[in-house]
Amino acid sequence: MSSLRELYQEIIVDHGRHPRHFGKLANANHSQEGHNPLCGDKVKLYVCEENGVVQEALFEGSGCAIAMASASLMLESIKGKTLVQIEKMFASFHRLVTQGICDSEIENNLGKLAVFQGVAEFPVRVKCATLAWHTLNAALLGSSEKVSTE
Ligand code: ZN
Repeated sequence: MSSLRELYQEIIVDHGRHPRHFGKLANANHSQEGHNPLCGDKVKLYVCEENGVVQEALFEGSGCAIAMASASLMLESIKGKTLVQIEKMFASFHRLVTQGICDSEIENNLGKLAVFQGVAEFPVRVKCATLAWHTLNAALLGSSEKVSTE
């Protein structure tokens, strides 16, 4: 279990330092900014969605390793997914990081995102981990208000 934890930590540190899918997406038809004032994390998401399927998504931003890794791994996971699938992933992710629950259903929904399970032990970090998801949710729902975790 401890080696699995170390592996999880490595993935988060790696994505935190070198976020994938970083940049501005020229053909985005959804974009949204999110802010976590508690920690100072900021993300801006760009999503290109067609017929309810995410074709491409990028983000820009700055913040702690967990916030950056969460955005990076989230964007890696949502490509090619339908909005309904993404909604389920968000629900699973929320249970994972707030309650530390990772049953087989959550594991199936999340895949690699299960690395964030350890966040449940640090309640102050939950907002860092969920910022990208709240922002994505708002982007896809077309909300025009900026997202704040406060
Ligand atoms: Zn943070």
